[in-house]
Amino acid sequence: MKEIILIKNGELALKGLNRSSFEATLAKNIKHRFRSLGKVKITCMQSTMTIEPECDGFDMDEAIEILKKVFGIAAFQRAAAVEKDMNIILETAPEYLREQLEEVKTFKVEAKRSDKKFPLTSPEISRNVGEVILREFPHIRVDVHNPDLTVTVEIRDRHAFIRGNQIKGAGGMPVGTGGKAAVLISGGIDSPVASWMISKRGVKLDAIHFASPPYTSPQSEQKVHDLLRQVTKYSGDIALYTVPFTKIQEQIRDNCEEEYFTLVMRRFMMRIANEIAKKADCSALVTGESLGQVASQTMPALACTDAVSDMPVLRPLVAMDKEEIIAVSRKIDTFDISIRPFEDCCTVFTPKHPRTRPKKEQLEEVEKALDIDTLVKEAVENTRFELIK
Ligand code: ATP
Ligand code: MG
Repeated sequence: MKEIILIKNGELALKGLNRSSFEATLAKNIKHRFRSLGKVKITCMQSTMTIEPECDGFDMDEAIEILKKVFGIAAFQRAAAVEKDMNIILETAPEYLREQLEEVKTFKVEAKRSDKKFPLTSPEISRNVGEVILREFPHIRVDVHNPDLTVTVEIRDRHAFIRGNQIKGAGGMPVGTGGKAAVLISGGIDSPVASWMISKRGVKLDAIHFASPPYTSPQSEQKVHDLLRQVTKYSGDIALYTVPFTKIQEQIRDNCEEEYFTLVMRRFMMRIANEIAKKADCSALVTGESLGQVASQTMPALACTDAVSDMPVLRPLVAMDKEEIIAVSRKIDTFDISIRPFEDCCTVFTPKHPRTRPKKEQLEEVEKALDIDTLVKEAVENTRFELIK
């Protein structure tokens, strides 16, 4: 018996996008994500996307786990593809769906026949399959209105497909259909969640991290790697730019009033991120900021950081509570990494009394003590690049 995966059109998260480019991007993403499992053939026909393994020993269970994290799929199904022979169908259905049938109390069979030359009608197929299932699993009964399990038998052009219940997908849009953005990633809880959310909208991600050794440790960079690796399970590969930030932070500490430290620092992050993102062809920046969470995330403070950005700054967490953000971070398995106790550059030289209602003009005044252009240029030039996969 051959096993395949089916994604129906209604299960694709299509929204007004060009269907064929949407499907082509999704197929490319799936192939890339399956690269360690072996080759698959993906076809889009009769409003169904079919994924067929093309090698022996393809690990279907692993493929299903991977597919649950691919954006652009609302639901999918694994199915047995068998010869269009009623005896084979009757033999295969109870065996193939044994695990699911043992777990449920009620079921129904739905037959669909796109090949009208098949000798039995849809109701006849349903009845026959239902009978063998009832014989083999005496504990279950038929419920046509609200069954625990719907067994579907589909007679297509080349094969008959037998499938059970749908598997929930990750939803969202295929990564790559929504352009590219650069996420400012720290080692905290918020920015990995922001990354995941934007990626879910079909946006390909690059990541920018500011490191201030020796104030920040190699372990805090490792943490960023581990977080991004987790995000890549959903987003696909991420290009990571690590920016040396020590000199800038020391200059701020030595030349600016303490209450402005954080905001001046954040404006530097924005300026540098703009430069890197532009070169990398990104059309927006993404941060994990949430309104009112800390002093640098009040509306006036956000206005001051936005003022130095030429690009839109996307803040998917802006209206979320910390508990809601934590719930997502647990779901995507970044929480345990985020709470490893290592310093981020933001927690180095934190002012005791930060400004919560800053004005951009005040910051511009404070920043006159610094050679902004040179500092930015140096930081960009010394940025390290690597690909996280
Ligand atoms: P997070 O949990 O994401 O660290 P946070 O609540 O700790 O967020 P801040 O430390 O003020 O908030 O940072 C706000 C945002 O700024 C982060 O979500 C992230 O997008 C960005 N950011 C903070 N520190 C860094 C860093 N070292 N490198 C890159 N971006 C950073
Ligand atoms: Mg932080």
